[in-house]
This record gives sequence, C-alpha cells and structure tokens, in this order.
Amino acid sequence: MSSRAGTEILLPPTALGVVGGGQLGRMFIQAAQRMGYRTVVLTDEPDSPAAQVAHEVVRGKDDDLRTLQRFITRVEAITVEFENVSSAALRWLAARIPTRPDWRAVRISQNRLREKTFLSQHGLPTAPWKPVRSEDELANALAEVGPSMILKTASSGYDGKGQVRIEQPGEAIAAWESLGRVPCVAEGVVSFMAEISVIVTRGQDGQIETFPVGMNRHERHILDSTIMPAPVGPIVSQEARDMAGTIAEAMGYVGVLCAEFFLAREGTLRVNEIAPRPHNSGHLTIEAATTSQFEQQVRALCGLPIGPTTLRSPAAMVNLLGDLWEGGSPDWSNTLKTDPSASLHLYGKGAAPIGRKMGHLTTLDPDPEAALARALAARHSSRVGQ
Ligand code: AMP
Repeated sequence: MSSRAGTEILLPPTALGVVGGGQLGRMFIQAAQRMGYRTVVLTDEPDSPAAQVAHEVVRGKDDDLRTLQRFITRVEAITVEFENVSSAALRWLAARIPTRPDWRAVRISQNRLREKTFLSQHGLPTAPWKPVRSEDELANALAEVGPSMILKTASSGYDGKGQVRIEQPGEAIAAWESLGRVPCVAEGVVSFMAEISVIVTRGQDGQIETFPVGMNRHERHILDSTIMPAPVGPIVSQEARDMAGTIAEAMGYVGVLCAEFFLAREGTLRVNEIAPRPHNSGHLTIEAATTSQFEQQVRALCGLPIGPTTLRSPAAMVNLLGDLWEGGSPDWSNTLKTDPSASLHLYGKGAAPIGRKMGHLTTLDPDPEAALARALAARHSSRVGQ
C-alpha cells in the first residue's frame, strides 16, 4: 500500500469487498473489474445481481459476526451498495479494515429524522418538517406543517413505501396507525416544478467532484427516467451542485452520494433526501460521463484521484421495471431494432414483479429530451405484443 498525502492507495489487483447483492453492487463490481481489481460480495443470495459477477461470494447476512469475520479475511477495503446495512456491522468492519462510506454518514441517511436534523443543522433547505413519535407530536405537526402533509416512516422507507399523504386533520391518527405508529417525519407538501438530483464524489484527500444535475421523473413514486444535464439554468445548477458538495463535506464523506431536490417554479431548491451510495439517477454516467459514478466509487474507496465528471454527451436513462414483463418476457431484439445505439443493462434478476427494478436503458443525444424520447420508444417496443 502506497500513499498520497492523507490517503491510503489500493492498487489493482487488490480485493475489494461490497456489502449487498443488488444492481448497485453489480455495477460497482463491473467498474472495479474493468480496472483490474478483484471483487468479493457479501450477500445471503448466491444468485443475486452482484453475486453473479463477483470473483467471489461470501454468503451470509451482514449482521452476522461470523460472516463479517470471514469477509474481512478475503478483502482489503469495503464499500456498501445500499443504505440499510446494519451500522453496528459497518462500525465493526471500519475498526478493522478501510470501510467507506463511514458508518456515521450511512447512519444519518438510514433515518429520516436524523437526516432532516442534519440538513437543518447545516443550513440546507428542506420541506417544512416535524418529528412524529407521539399523538402530541402528531397534533403539533398538523398545526405547524399541516393540514396537508406527508407522513413518512423515519426508517426503512424507499420508493414511496412507508408514506401516507394526509389532507384533513381528521385523517392523521388513522394515517399514523396505518404506518404502525412507528417514529415518523411529517413533511409539508412541497409544490415543485421538477425533481432533480446531484451525485457527488468526495475523495480521501477531500477532493469533491459533482456530476451535472439530473432531472428525474417518477411513476408511482419509483424513478422512471432521468435526463442529464437537467434543463435548469446555470444558477440553479450551481446551487444544487454546491449543496451536494456541502453535504459531502459536512459529513466528512468519502465515496459517492446522491442528493435529491425539489425545484420550485421560482427556482428555490429543497433537499428531499440523501442516498449514501451511487444512485439510479446516475446510471447513465456509465456511457455519458468521462468517469462513471461506479468508477468514482472505486476511486474514492481506493484513494485514487477522483475523475472528471464532464459529459461526453447529454443522455437519458429509463428504468426497466417488472411491469414490462406482464405480458411475457420482453423482446430485447425489438428494443435494439428501435434504437440500435441504446445501451441495454439487465441486472440478472429472476422474478419480475410489478415495480421491481430489472434493468435500464441509456441513450445519448445532443438534445437530452430527444435522448429521452428515443429511450422511451425503445422501451415501449420491448413489450411483447406491441
Ligand atoms: P421519497 O421517498 O421521500 O423520495 O418520496 C418519494 C416521492 O414522493 C418523491 O420523489 C416525490 O415525488 C414525492 N414527495 C415526497 N415528499 C414530498 C413532499 N414533501 N412534497 C411533495 N412531494 C413529495
């Protein structure tokens, strides 16, 4: 191991470990392997997307000490591919082996109450919010941010799960009941024109690089498409990139994180949430950017210089959800006939229930909206019976 000032450099073919077997782990592994690293995944599903491509799989749960003990004998540095990793496990790993991001940063974004508190403490704008841990706090939240508000469980919510919208004060108790009366955040409803995101990488030496802003469209609370760069003006774009940098700096973060924002018509930004990892809205950087978000994750983990984030071309990404499989397995030859230059990514998942992220398509075009139209057309043509 050699070093630059304040960094530990891990060069290929060092073995890198990733906790979690999903598609983010798979794409991290693919980037690491291209650079010549050996890769090991910790997962309890031997046929998971990341396990299919890793050099080696350590099978087990991330909160099992024996599994963690086996894992650290196989790798020299560790990253995570999803935020719901036990923070005790991450702390245990970090005490023995370079583990990035830091468990404290992951812990903040595992819990909406901690995340909102962190953002407010650092002067970053959010939707108006109040904690809800008792009926008194619920009444207080209604008075302060209601009556229209969104109740979100503090932990384990994603893709709109664990959320209920309340329109009338009389609905509040039943809404909280429906979430199991667990600790929640009550958020005022933000009237936004667009949802945008910024992916930021911070290296071990504190170098910060942000990708251009992405603009995201959701369907049923699940990301459906992203275009990059977002059609927002230079001031909004710089503000969003600066805020993402502020978050990474304030956390002392090493790695890749995504900040998601609501953009109001008058140009005001509010941070919606932080993901301590590469993000679905950054998948198009694989083809579109000089350095992809997954290569940035490898570089940050290994103490290498963080790469330039300039785009080779504007781009669009559309998700391929389980819904596409409804009438039978999609016909990818039609997809590629419709747009031979589209890049098809499938994650190797077996079952395709509605809403499951099975893959994505990326298209490049000088006009990002034209890229999106092409990606949507290509996706549409993959449906059998079209
Ligand atoms: P989240 O899981 O917090 O990202 O929420 C999922 C989606 O719900 C967001 O992408 C928004 O489209 C919508 N949403 C969440 N919070 C708010 C809010 N405070 N105001 C308006 N829409 C929201």
